[in-house]
Amino acid sequence: MSNAAPGRPSPRPDLTFTPVRNGMDYLERAVADLTEGATPPSARDLKYAVLHLQAATEVLLKARLVGEHWSLVFKDPGSATMEEFQKGGFKSCDTDETIKRLAGIARVEIPSASRIAIKNLSSDRNALMHYGHTGDAFVVEARAVGVLGFLLDFVEGDLRPMLKARYQDSIRAEWEGAKGLTREDMIELLSRSPEVVDIDQELFAVDVTMQDLRTKLGRIEKLVDQRMKSLSGQLKPVLHRTVRCPDCRQWALVVATLGKQGDRIYCRFCLLAYDNPKSPAYEYLQHVIGQDNGAVVGCPSCDSRSLVLGVNTADNPREDVGLCFNCGEIAEEVINGE
Ligand SMILES: [Zn+2]
Ligand SMILES: [Zn+2]
Repeated sequence: MSNAAPGRPSPRPDLTFTPVRNGMDYLERAVADLTEGATPPSARDLKYAVLHLQAATEVLLKARLVGEHWSLVFKDPGSATMEEFQKGGFKSCDTDETIKRLAGIARVEIPSASRIAIKNLSSDRNALMHYGHTGDAFVVEARAVGVLGFLLDFVEGDLRPMLKARYQDSIRAEWEGAKGLTREDMIELLSRSPEVVDIDQELFAVDVTMQDLRTKLGRIEKLVDQRMKSLSGQLKPVLHRTVRCPDCRQWALVVATLGKQGDRIYCRFCLLAYDNPKSPAYEYLQHVIGQDNGAVVGCPSCDSRSLVLGVNTADNPREDVGLCFNCGEIAEEVINGE
C-alpha cells in the first residue's frame, strides 16, 4: 500500500475489503422481496427472497470474520496472501466453516436455532436454484423469516459494534501519527484516510439500511408472529413500561430504564435504540399518539422532561396514562403542561 507515511502505522488493507455494504444490499433486497408483492409472498418473490437472504447471510457472516482478520475467510488461512485477498479470486471457506471460525476465533456464538435455520435456508436455496421449487411454501417462508430475524440481531449486536470499534481504532491510529495538527488539518487528514473513509461508509450503509428495514419489518406477517412470540418471555416482566414503537409499530419499545447499565431504551422487535429518554418521548408523541392527543411534560418524580401524556402500555393498551419514559412514573392526573 502506497499511502503509508513513515512513522505512521500502515493501513490495514483488510478494512477496505469488508463487504458489509454488499451484504446490507442483499438484505434489503430480501426484505423487499418479502414485502413489496402479495401477502403471503408469491412463489417467485419467495424464491428471490431466499436467494438474497442466503447471499446476505454468507456475506455478512464473512464480513464479521474479516473484521477479526482477513486471512480467516480463506478456505486454507495458512496459504492466504494479501494479493489474492485483494483480487478476490481465492477459494473461501463455506458458511458452516465460517460459523465455526466465528465461534472459535472471534468468540461470536451463533445460537443453535439460528444455525439450524441457516443450514435449512441453504438447502432451500439449492433446491430453488437447481429445480426452481421446494416443498411447502409456508415452511420456506417461515425458515427465511427465522434467518432474517437472526441477521437483524447479528448486524446490530455483532457487526455494527465491530465496525464501530475499528472505526475508533483507525481514527486513533491517524491521530497518533499526526500530533500537533490543528483541528481543521486533522479533519482534512481523516477525510483523506482510505481506512477511516471506508469504515465510515460501511457504518453509514448499516445505519441507512437498518433504518429503512425498520419501517418494512412490520409488514412481514410471519416475522412479526415469530419474533413477537420469541420476545414474549423478556417482555412479560416489563409490560407496564412497554409501548408501541414509533418506527416498526410493534408493542416492543421498553422505556423507563433509568439509564441502568446494559438496559438501554430500545425496541426489542426492530432494535431501534435511543441514548436518552427524551427522544423516544417526543417521537412517541409525534408518531404514535399525534401532537393533538397528548403532550410531553416535566416529570414530577425525576424532573426529566420525559413524561408523556396519552400513552398506552402493553399491559393496559386501552387506557390513556401519563408515563415517564425516564423513571417509569405513572401519572393519572397531570399537574401542569410546563
Ligand atoms: Zn421497533
Ligand atoms: Zn420521571
